[in-house]
Amino acid sequence: MTEQTEDSGLQIQKQQKDWQQKLAFDRQHIWHPYTSMVNPLPCYPVVAASGVEIELANGEKLIDGMSSWWAAIHGYQHPKLDAAIEKQLKKMSHVMFGGLTHQPAIDLAQKLIDLSPAGLQKIFFSDSGSVAVEVAIKMATQYWYSQGLQNKKHLLTVRGGYHGDTAACMSVCDPDAGMHEMFTAILPPQIFAEKPACGFYEEFNESHIQNFKTLIQKNHAKLAAVILEPIVQGAGGMYFYSPAYLKAVRDLCDEFNVLLILDEIATGFGRSGKLFACEHADIEPDILCIGKALTGGYMTLAATLCSEKVALGISKEGSGLLMHGPTFMANPLACACANASIDLLLENNWVTQVKNIEQILTRELPICARFSYVKEVRVLGAMGVIELTAAVNMQKIQACFVKEGIWLRPFGKLVYMMPPYVISEAQLIYLCSAVLKVLSNPDNLF
Ligand code: PMP
Repeated sequence: MTEQTEDSGLQIQKQQKDWQQKLAFDRQHIWHPYTSMVNPLPCYPVVAASGVEIELANGEKLIDGMSSWWAAIHGYQHPKLDAAIEKQLKKMSHVMFGGLTHQPAIDLAQKLIDLSPAGLQKIFFSDSGSVAVEVAIKMATQYWYSQGLQNKKHLLTVRGGYHGDTAACMSVCDPDAGMHEMFTAILPPQIFAEKPACGFYEEFNESHIQNFKTLIQKNHAKLAAVILEPIVQGAGGMYFYSPAYLKAVRDLCDEFNVLLILDEIATGFGRSGKLFACEHADIEPDILCIGKALTGGYMTLAATLCSEKVALGISKEGSGLLMHGPTFMANPLACACANASIDLLLENNWVTQVKNIEQILTRELPICARFSYVKEVRVLGAMGVIELTAAVNMQKIQACFVKEGIWLRPFGKLVYMMPPYVISEAQLIYLCSAVLKVLSNPDNLF
Protein backbone atom coordinates (compact mmCIF):
# COMPACT_ATOMS: atom_id res chain seq x y z
CA MET A 1 0.00 0.00 0.00
CA THR A 2 1.39 3.44 -0.90
CA GLU A 3 1.45 6.24 1.63
CA GLN A 4 -1.14 8.11 -0.41
CA THR A 5 -3.73 5.28 -0.42
CA GLU A 6 -3.10 4.75 3.31
CA ASP A 7 -3.82 8.47 3.89
CA SER A 8 -7.04 8.43 1.86
CA GLY A 9 -8.12 5.23 3.63
CA LEU A 10 -7.68 6.99 6.99
CA GLN A 11 -9.50 10.03 5.70
CA ILE A 12 -12.50 7.92 4.63
CA GLN A 13 -12.54 6.21 8.03
CA LYS A 14 -12.54 9.63 9.73
CA GLN A 15 -15.35 10.91 7.50
CA GLN A 16 -17.43 7.83 8.25
CA LYS A 17 -16.93 8.38 11.99
CA ASP A 18 -17.86 12.06 11.65
CA TRP A 19 -21.02 11.05 9.80
CA GLN A 20 -21.98 8.62 12.54
CA GLN A 21 -21.88 11.51 15.00
CA LYS A 22 -23.83 13.81 12.68
CA LEU A 23 -26.47 11.15 12.12
CA ALA A 24 -26.79 10.60 15.87
CA PHE A 25 -27.40 14.34 16.28
CA ASP A 26 -29.88 14.34 13.39
CA ARG A 27 -31.75 11.41 14.91
CA GLN A 28 -31.96 13.06 18.28
CA HIS A 29 -32.91 16.59 17.27
CA ILE A 30 -34.28 16.90 13.76
CA TRP A 31 -37.76 15.95 12.60
CA HIS A 32 -37.90 14.50 9.12
CA PRO A 33 -41.18 14.37 7.18
CA TYR A 34 -43.89 12.19 8.72
CA THR A 35 -41.64 10.64 11.36
CA SER A 36 -41.44 10.18 15.09
CA MET A 37 -38.82 11.81 17.34
CA VAL A 38 -38.78 8.70 19.50
CA ASN A 39 -37.97 6.01 17.01
CA PRO A 40 -37.37 7.57 13.61
CA LEU A 41 -36.53 5.52 10.53
CA PRO A 42 -32.89 5.83 9.51
CA CYS A 43 -31.84 8.61 7.13
CA TYR A 44 -29.12 8.30 4.51
CA PRO A 45 -26.63 11.18 4.48
CA VAL A 46 -26.28 12.84 1.07
CA VAL A 47 -23.20 14.86 0.17
CA ALA A 48 -23.96 15.77 -3.43
CA ALA A 49 -26.42 15.22 -6.26
CA SER A 50 -25.79 15.69 -9.92
CA GLY A 51 -27.66 14.67 -13.05
CA VAL A 52 -29.89 11.78 -12.01
CA GLU A 53 -27.59 10.58 -9.22
CA ILE A 54 -27.65 11.17 -5.50
CA GLU A 55 -24.28 10.65 -3.81
CA LEU A 56 -24.24 9.29 -0.27
CA ALA A 57 -21.57 10.11 2.30
CA ASN A 58 -20.01 6.67 1.85
CA GLY A 59 -19.41 7.43 -1.83
CA GLU A 60 -22.26 5.25 -3.16
CA LYS A 61 -24.31 6.79 -5.95
CA LEU A 62 -28.04 6.14 -6.27
CA ILE A 63 -30.14 6.55 -9.40
CA ASP A 64 -32.97 8.85 -8.40
CA GLY A 65 -36.48 7.57 -9.07
CA MET A 66 -38.30 10.25 -7.07
CA SER A 67 -37.26 13.64 -8.52
CA SER A 68 -37.24 14.75 -4.88
CA TRP A 69 -41.03 14.33 -4.68
CA TRP A 70 -42.02 15.36 -8.22
CA ALA A 71 -39.78 18.42 -8.30
CA ALA A 72 -36.31 17.82 -9.81
CA ILE A 73 -37.48 17.29 -13.38
CA HIS A 74 -34.15 18.36 -14.91
CA GLY A 75 -32.06 16.39 -12.43
CA TYR A 76 -29.63 17.92 -9.96
CA GLN A 77 -26.94 20.59 -10.42
CA HIS A 78 -28.13 21.55 -13.85
CA PRO A 79 -25.64 24.08 -15.26
CA LYS A 80 -28.41 26.34 -16.63
CA LEU A 81 -30.33 26.45 -13.37
CA ASP A 82 -27.13 26.93 -11.37
CA ALA A 83 -26.15 29.81 -13.69
CA ALA A 84 -29.59 31.48 -13.44
CA ILE A 85 -29.38 31.52 -9.65
CA GLU A 86 -25.78 32.75 -9.62
CA LYS A 87 -26.68 35.57 -12.03
CA GLN A 88 -29.65 36.62 -9.93
CA LEU A 89 -27.62 36.35 -6.71
CA LYS A 90 -25.29 39.07 -7.99
CA LYS A 91 -28.28 41.43 -8.30
CA MET A 92 -30.35 40.59 -5.23
CA SER A 93 -31.40 37.42 -3.48
CA HIS A 94 -34.58 38.81 -1.99
CA VAL A 95 -36.66 41.91 -1.49
CA MET A 96 -40.10 42.16 0.01
CA PHE A 97 -42.91 42.03 -2.52
CA GLY A 98 -45.10 44.50 -0.65
CA GLY A 99 -44.79 47.76 -2.59
CA LEU A 100 -41.85 46.47 -4.67
CA THR A 101 -41.65 44.35 -7.80
CA HIS A 102 -38.88 42.91 -9.99
CA GLN A 103 -38.02 41.47 -13.38
CA PRO A 104 -37.81 37.77 -12.37
CA ALA A 105 -41.37 37.87 -10.98
CA ILE A 106 -42.75 39.75 -14.00
CA ASP A 107 -41.02 37.36 -16.43
CA LEU A 108 -42.29 34.34 -14.52
CA ALA A 109 -45.85 35.64 -14.31
CA GLN A 110 -45.79 36.22 -18.07
CA LYS A 111 -44.52 32.70 -18.78
CA LEU A 112 -47.03 31.04 -16.45
CA ILE A 113 -49.97 33.03 -17.78
CA ASP A 114 -48.90 32.09 -21.33
CA LEU A 115 -48.44 28.37 -20.57
CA SER A 116 -51.40 27.72 -18.29
CA PRO A 117 -55.03 27.45 -19.49
CA ALA A 118 -56.02 30.61 -21.34
CA GLY A 119 -58.59 31.91 -18.87
CA LEU A 120 -56.08 32.17 -16.02
CA GLN A 121 -54.77 35.71 -16.12
CA LYS A 122 -53.98 36.66 -12.52
CA ILE A 123 -51.28 35.16 -10.34
CA PHE A 124 -50.37 35.09 -6.66
CA PHE A 125 -46.86 33.83 -5.75
CA SER A 126 -46.29 31.97 -2.52
CA ASP A 127 -43.66 29.84 -0.87
CA SER A 128 -44.99 26.28 -0.88
CA GLY A 129 -47.64 24.08 -2.39
CA SER A 130 -49.71 24.00 0.78
CA VAL A 131 -49.76 27.79 0.92
CA ALA A 132 -50.78 27.93 -2.75
CA VAL A 133 -53.78 25.73 -1.87
CA GLU A 134 -54.62 27.87 1.18
CA VAL A 135 -54.59 30.93 -1.07
CA ALA A 136 -56.81 29.18 -3.63
CA ILE A 137 -59.33 28.35 -0.91
CA LYS A 138 -59.23 31.92 0.38
CA MET A 139 -59.77 33.25 -3.15
CA ALA A 140 -62.81 31.03 -3.67
CA THR A 141 -64.33 31.87 -0.28
CA GLN A 142 -63.69 35.57 -0.66
CA TYR A 143 -65.12 35.59 -4.17
CA TRP A 144 -68.55 34.51 -2.90
CA TYR A 145 -68.26 36.70 0.20
CA SER A 146 -67.78 39.71 -2.08
CA GLN A 147 -70.93 38.69 -4.02
CA GLY A 148 -72.87 38.77 -0.75
CA LEU A 149 -73.15 34.96 -0.70
CA GLN A 150 -71.46 34.33 2.64
CA ASN A 151 -72.98 30.87 2.92
CA LYS A 152 -70.93 29.63 0.00
CA LYS A 153 -67.91 28.77 2.14
CA HIS A 154 -67.57 24.96 2.05
CA LEU A 155 -65.63 22.77 -0.33
CA LEU A 156 -66.55 19.61 -2.18
CA THR A 157 -63.80 17.17 -3.02
CA VAL A 158 -63.30 13.46 -3.61
CA ARG A 159 -61.95 10.78 -1.33
CA GLY A 160 -58.37 9.67 -1.86
CA GLY A 161 -57.12 13.23 -2.37
CA TYR A 162 -54.12 15.02 -0.93
CA HIS A 163 -53.59 18.78 -0.93
CA GLY A 164 -50.94 19.56 1.66
CA ASP A 165 -50.36 19.71 5.38
CA THR A 166 -51.64 23.12 6.52
CA ALA A 167 -55.09 23.49 8.06
CA ALA A 168 -57.37 24.26 5.11
CA CYS A 169 -55.42 21.77 2.98
CA MET A 170 -55.82 19.07 5.61
CA SER A 171 -59.58 19.65 5.61
CA VAL A 172 -59.76 18.44 2.00
CA CYS A 173 -57.31 15.53 2.23
CA ASP A 174 -58.91 12.09 2.41
CA PRO A 175 -60.67 12.13 5.82
CA ASP A 176 -60.03 8.48 6.66
CA ALA A 177 -57.00 7.17 4.86
CA GLY A 178 -55.24 10.55 4.78
CA MET A 179 -52.41 11.48 7.06
CA HIS A 180 -54.48 14.03 8.93
CA GLU A 181 -57.27 11.98 10.39
CA MET A 182 -56.51 12.97 13.98
CA PHE A 183 -57.16 16.65 13.20
CA THR A 184 -60.60 16.13 11.70
CA ALA A 185 -62.34 17.53 14.77
CA ILE A 186 -60.61 20.90 14.54
CA LEU A 187 -60.77 21.33 10.76
CA PRO A 188 -63.51 23.07 8.79
CA PRO A 189 -66.04 20.40 7.77
CA GLN A 190 -66.01 19.72 4.03
CA ILE A 191 -67.98 17.42 1.76
CA PHE A 192 -66.45 14.29 0.28
CA ALA A 193 -67.66 12.41 -2.77
CA GLU A 194 -66.53 8.89 -3.52
CA LYS A 195 -63.10 8.48 -5.07
CA PRO A 196 -63.46 8.69 -8.89
CA ALA A 197 -64.35 5.09 -9.74
CA CYS A 198 -63.34 5.28 -13.39
CA GLY A 199 -59.65 4.62 -14.02
CA PHE A 200 -57.67 6.59 -16.62
CA TYR A 201 -57.89 3.89 -19.28
CA GLU A 202 -61.46 2.81 -18.50
CA GLU A 203 -64.64 3.80 -20.26
CA PHE A 204 -66.54 6.47 -18.35
CA ASN A 205 -70.29 6.27 -17.83
CA GLU A 206 -72.82 8.36 -15.93
CA SER A 207 -72.82 6.02 -12.94
CA HIS A 208 -69.21 7.00 -12.21
CA ILE A 209 -70.16 10.63 -11.50
CA GLN A 210 -73.52 9.93 -9.84
CA ASN A 211 -72.37 10.28 -6.23
CA PHE A 212 -70.50 13.53 -6.99
CA LYS A 213 -73.52 14.83 -8.88
CA THR A 214 -75.89 14.10 -6.01
CA LEU A 215 -73.61 15.93 -3.56
CA ILE A 216 -73.15 19.04 -5.71
CA GLN A 217 -76.90 19.16 -6.45
CA LYS A 218 -77.71 18.94 -2.75
CA ASN A 219 -75.02 21.29 -1.41
CA HIS A 220 -74.29 23.89 -4.10
CA ALA A 221 -75.82 26.74 -2.11
CA LYS A 222 -73.13 26.30 0.55
CA LEU A 223 -70.25 25.40 -1.77
CA ALA A 224 -67.54 27.91 -2.60
CA ALA A 225 -65.60 25.47 -4.74
CA VAL A 226 -64.79 21.97 -5.76
CA ILE A 227 -61.13 21.13 -5.24
CA LEU A 228 -59.41 18.22 -6.98
CA GLU A 229 -56.07 16.92 -8.11
CA PRO A 230 -56.76 16.55 -11.83
CA ILE A 231 -56.29 13.02 -13.27
CA VAL A 232 -53.61 11.95 -10.77
CA GLN A 233 -54.34 11.46 -7.08
CA GLY A 234 -50.80 11.60 -5.68
CA ALA A 235 -49.99 11.08 -2.03
CA GLY A 236 -53.55 9.82 -1.46
CA GLY A 237 -52.87 6.63 -3.45
CA MET A 238 -51.07 7.28 -6.77
CA TYR A 239 -54.28 6.65 -8.68
CA PHE A 240 -55.03 7.83 -12.24
CA TYR A 241 -58.65 8.59 -13.10
CA SER A 242 -60.62 9.25 -16.24
CA PRO A 243 -60.43 12.61 -18.07
CA ALA A 244 -64.17 12.20 -18.78
CA TYR A 245 -64.80 12.23 -15.01
CA LEU A 246 -62.91 15.53 -14.73
CA LYS A 247 -64.84 16.96 -17.66
CA ALA A 248 -68.11 15.97 -15.97
CA VAL A 249 -66.97 17.73 -12.79
CA ARG A 250 -66.27 20.92 -14.75
CA ASP A 251 -69.72 20.77 -16.34
CA LEU A 252 -71.41 20.25 -12.97
CA CYS A 253 -69.48 23.17 -11.42
CA ASP A 254 -70.75 25.38 -14.24
CA GLU A 255 -74.30 24.09 -13.92
CA PHE A 256 -74.43 24.64 -10.16
CA ASN A 257 -72.41 27.86 -9.97
CA VAL A 258 -69.50 26.46 -7.99
CA LEU A 259 -65.85 27.40 -8.66
CA LEU A 260 -63.36 24.72 -9.64
CA ILE A 261 -59.90 24.69 -8.01
CA LEU A 262 -57.38 22.33 -9.59
CA ASP A 263 -54.33 21.39 -7.59
CA GLU A 264 -51.61 20.72 -10.17
CA ILE A 265 -48.81 20.99 -7.63
CA ALA A 266 -47.70 17.43 -8.41
CA THR A 267 -48.91 17.12 -12.00
CA GLY A 268 -47.91 20.52 -13.39
CA PHE A 269 -45.06 20.84 -15.91
CA GLY A 270 -45.57 17.68 -17.90
CA ARG A 271 -45.52 14.80 -15.45
CA SER A 272 -48.76 13.20 -16.71
CA GLY A 273 -47.89 13.62 -20.39
CA LYS A 274 -49.67 16.98 -20.71
CA LEU A 275 -48.14 20.24 -19.53
CA PHE A 276 -51.04 20.50 -17.08
CA ALA A 277 -53.10 17.39 -16.33
CA CYS A 278 -56.40 19.24 -16.89
CA GLU A 279 -55.48 19.32 -20.59
CA HIS A 280 -56.29 15.58 -20.73
CA ALA A 281 -59.92 16.60 -20.21
CA ASP A 282 -59.66 19.78 -22.26
CA ILE A 283 -61.01 21.88 -19.43
CA GLU A 284 -59.91 24.95 -17.48
CA PRO A 285 -60.21 25.55 -13.75
CA ASP A 286 -61.24 28.86 -12.22
CA ILE A 287 -58.24 28.61 -9.88
CA LEU A 288 -55.03 26.64 -10.41
CA CYS A 289 -52.30 25.74 -7.89
CA ILE A 290 -48.75 24.96 -8.98
CA GLY A 291 -45.47 24.33 -7.14
CA LYS A 292 -42.91 21.52 -6.87
CA ALA A 293 -41.38 21.34 -10.42
CA LEU A 294 -41.91 25.09 -10.89
CA THR A 295 -38.26 25.75 -9.96
CA GLY A 296 -37.02 22.41 -11.31
CA GLY A 297 -36.85 21.29 -7.69
CA TYR A 298 -34.18 23.83 -6.74
CA MET A 299 -36.03 25.91 -4.20
CA THR A 300 -39.41 26.44 -2.75
CA LEU A 301 -41.86 28.49 -4.79
CA ALA A 302 -45.52 28.04 -5.64
CA ALA A 303 -48.28 30.02 -7.29
CA THR A 304 -52.04 30.29 -7.46
CA LEU A 305 -53.50 31.49 -10.74
CA CYS A 306 -57.09 32.53 -11.26
CA SER A 307 -59.47 33.81 -13.86
CA GLU A 308 -60.38 37.43 -14.37
CA LYS A 309 -63.86 36.61 -13.07
CA VAL A 310 -62.51 35.37 -9.73
CA ALA A 311 -59.97 38.18 -9.32
CA LEU A 312 -62.42 40.95 -10.18
CA GLY A 313 -65.14 39.26 -8.14
CA ILE A 314 -62.94 39.31 -5.04
CA SER A 315 -62.40 43.01 -5.47
CA LYS A 316 -65.93 43.90 -6.43
CA GLU A 317 -66.28 47.67 -6.62
CA GLY A 318 -62.56 47.95 -6.03
CA SER A 319 -62.87 47.25 -2.33
CA GLY A 320 -61.82 43.67 -1.58
CA LEU A 321 -58.18 43.00 -0.82
CA LEU A 322 -56.79 39.49 -1.03
CA MET A 323 -55.57 39.11 2.52
CA HIS A 324 -52.41 37.09 2.07
CA GLY A 325 -48.75 38.15 1.83
CA PRO A 326 -45.95 35.70 2.63
CA THR A 327 -42.57 37.19 3.60
CA PHE A 328 -40.80 35.34 0.81
CA MET A 329 -43.48 35.93 -1.79
CA ALA A 330 -42.01 35.91 -5.33
CA ASN A 331 -38.47 35.43 -4.03
CA PRO A 332 -36.25 36.69 -6.88
CA LEU A 333 -33.79 33.79 -6.72
CA ALA A 334 -36.64 31.28 -6.91
CA CYS A 335 -38.36 33.22 -9.72
CA ALA A 336 -35.10 33.41 -11.71
CA CYS A 337 -34.63 29.69 -11.23
CA ALA A 338 -38.23 28.99 -12.27
CA ASN A 339 -37.78 31.09 -15.42
CA ALA A 340 -34.69 29.06 -16.35
CA SER A 341 -36.45 25.79 -15.51
CA ILE A 342 -39.42 26.58 -17.74
CA ASP A 343 -37.10 27.63 -20.60
CA LEU A 344 -35.22 24.37 -20.18
CA LEU A 345 -38.43 22.34 -20.10
CA LEU A 346 -39.55 23.81 -23.41
CA GLU A 347 -36.06 23.58 -24.96
CA ASN A 348 -35.62 19.95 -23.88
CA ASN A 349 -38.79 18.81 -25.60
CA TRP A 350 -40.44 17.51 -22.47
CA VAL A 351 -43.19 15.79 -24.51
CA THR A 352 -40.66 13.37 -25.99
CA GLN A 353 -38.84 12.95 -22.67
CA VAL A 354 -42.04 12.03 -20.84
CA LYS A 355 -43.29 9.81 -23.68
CA ASN A 356 -40.00 7.89 -23.70
CA ILE A 357 -40.19 7.35 -19.95
CA GLU A 358 -43.82 6.22 -20.28
CA GLN A 359 -42.88 3.72 -22.99
CA ILE A 360 -40.03 2.24 -20.97
CA LEU A 361 -42.10 2.02 -17.76
CA THR A 362 -44.93 0.38 -19.73
CA ARG A 363 -42.50 -2.17 -21.09
CA GLU A 364 -40.48 -2.85 -17.94
CA LEU A 365 -42.83 -2.62 -14.95
CA PRO A 366 -45.86 -4.87 -15.70
CA ILE A 367 -43.74 -7.98 -15.17
CA CYS A 368 -43.95 -7.14 -11.44
CA ALA A 369 -47.66 -8.07 -11.58
CA ARG A 370 -46.71 -11.74 -11.58
CA PHE A 371 -45.99 -11.67 -7.83
CA SER A 372 -48.97 -12.74 -5.74
CA TYR A 373 -48.45 -9.75 -3.42
CA VAL A 374 -48.67 -7.21 -6.29
CA LYS A 375 -52.22 -5.97 -6.76
CA GLU A 376 -51.74 -3.71 -9.77
CA VAL A 377 -49.12 -1.99 -11.91
CA ARG A 378 -50.07 1.43 -13.32
CA VAL A 379 -48.22 3.76 -15.66
CA LEU A 380 -49.12 7.25 -16.85
CA GLY A 381 -46.66 9.77 -18.31
CA ALA A 382 -43.46 9.73 -16.30
CA MET A 383 -45.05 7.88 -13.36
CA GLY A 384 -44.91 4.18 -12.59
CA VAL A 385 -46.81 2.66 -9.68
CA ILE A 386 -46.76 -0.82 -8.22
CA GLU A 387 -49.57 -1.31 -5.73
CA LEU A 388 -49.02 -4.20 -3.33
CA THR A 389 -51.61 -6.12 -1.36
CA ALA A 390 -50.10 -5.09 2.00
CA ALA A 391 -48.08 -2.18 3.36
CA VAL A 392 -44.31 -2.46 3.01
CA ASN A 393 -41.80 -2.30 5.82
CA MET A 394 -40.25 0.99 4.78
CA GLN A 395 -36.92 0.53 6.53
CA LYS A 396 -36.38 -2.93 5.06
CA ILE A 397 -37.34 -2.12 1.49
CA GLN A 398 -35.48 1.18 1.49
CA ALA A 399 -32.26 -0.56 2.56
CA CYS A 400 -32.70 -3.07 -0.29
CA PHE A 401 -33.20 -0.30 -2.85
CA VAL A 402 -30.11 1.55 -1.60
CA LYS A 403 -28.12 -1.68 -1.78
CA GLU A 404 -29.17 -1.96 -5.43
CA GLY A 405 -28.07 1.64 -6.06
CA ILE A 406 -31.47 3.27 -6.53
CA TRP A 407 -33.46 5.84 -4.60
CA LEU A 408 -37.18 5.24 -4.12
CA ARG A 409 -39.40 6.15 -1.18
CA PRO A 410 -42.43 3.85 -1.04
CA PHE A 411 -45.34 4.53 1.27
CA GLY A 412 -48.04 2.20 2.52
CA LYS A 413 -48.80 -0.34 -0.20
CA LEU A 414 -47.24 1.76 -2.94
CA VAL A 415 -43.86 1.40 -4.59
CA TYR A 416 -43.73 4.12 -7.20
CA MET A 417 -41.35 6.11 -9.32
CA MET A 418 -41.41 9.48 -11.06
CA PRO A 419 -37.83 9.97 -12.27
CA PRO A 420 -36.30 13.20 -13.55
CA TYR A 421 -37.22 13.73 -17.22
CA VAL A 422 -33.50 13.67 -18.12
CA ILE A 423 -33.02 10.07 -16.98
CA SER A 424 -31.31 8.01 -19.71
CA GLU A 425 -32.86 4.87 -21.13
CA ALA A 426 -30.10 2.75 -19.54
CA GLN A 427 -30.62 4.38 -16.13
CA LEU A 428 -34.38 3.89 -16.29
CA ILE A 429 -34.05 0.26 -17.34
CA TYR A 430 -31.64 -0.26 -14.46
CA LEU A 431 -34.08 1.42 -12.06
CA CYS A 432 -36.91 -0.88 -13.17
CA SER A 433 -34.77 -4.02 -13.03
CA ALA A 434 -33.58 -3.13 -9.52
CA VAL A 435 -37.22 -2.69 -8.43
CA LEU A 436 -38.10 -6.06 -9.94
CA LYS A 437 -35.16 -7.68 -8.16
CA VAL A 438 -36.11 -6.23 -4.78
CA LEU A 439 -39.81 -7.07 -5.23
CA SER A 440 -39.03 -10.64 -6.26
CA ASN A 441 -38.25 -11.54 -2.65
CA PRO A 442 -41.13 -10.90 -0.20
CA ASP A 443 -38.62 -10.96 2.68
CA ASN A 444 -37.37 -7.60 1.35
CA LEU A 445 -40.81 -6.05 1.60
CA PHE A 446 -42.83 -7.06 4.62
N1 PMP B 1 -50.92 19.36 -3.31
C1 PMP B 1 -50.43 18.24 -3.85
C2 PMP B 1 -51.21 17.54 -4.92
C3 PMP B 1 -49.20 17.74 -3.42
O1 PMP B 1 -48.71 16.61 -3.95
C4 PMP B 1 -48.49 18.45 -2.41
C5 PMP B 1 -47.15 17.97 -1.91
N2 PMP B 1 -46.98 16.64 -1.74
C6 PMP B 1 -49.04 19.61 -1.89
C7 PMP B 1 -50.26 20.04 -2.37
C8 PMP B 1 -48.34 20.39 -0.82
O2 PMP B 1 -47.19 20.98 -1.31
P1 PMP B 1 -46.00 21.40 -0.31
O3 PMP B 1 -45.43 20.13 0.22
O4 PMP B 1 -45.05 22.15 -1.19
O5 PMP B 1 -46.61 22.25 0.74
